[in-house]
Amino acid sequence: MAKPPTLTRAEARKATRWFQKRLGIQDWTIKLDVQDDVPRWGRDDADDGTLGMTMTCAPYKEATIWIAPGRHAKGGDWPLATLFHELLHVVAHDTGVESGERLPTEAQEYVHNRIGDLLAAAYRKGL
Ligand SMILES: [Zn+2]
Repeated sequence: MAKPPTLTRAEARKATRWFQKRLGIQDWTIKLDVQDDVPRWGRDDADDGTLGMTMTCAPYKEATIWIAPGRHAKGGDWPLATLFHELLHVVAHDTGVESGERLPTEAQEYVHNRIGDLLAAAYRKGL
């Protein structure tokens, strides 16, 4: 049986640094909240199936990312891919894509899922 997916705070921090360097968002301050309870700021939008969320403040280049590792075991999702998905929201905010709503939410989520999976695979291979 496959090992249930996990992600520690230290692993998330390391992967975030890797991502920021490669995607050119080193100037953002990114706080990581790695635990399974929905944070206060996410309660209006999260449901039982929410695996992670991001809150950004683009003018100050600050973001808080919540990742719930324990919620991934049920669906077999990969916490690292969720982290990269959330970080791609930060990239989108950095470029102004999300604030300008130039892409429908569904399209953004789709693109972030696909690229997030790809980046997680690259990260695991040490690329
Ligand atoms: Zn998303």
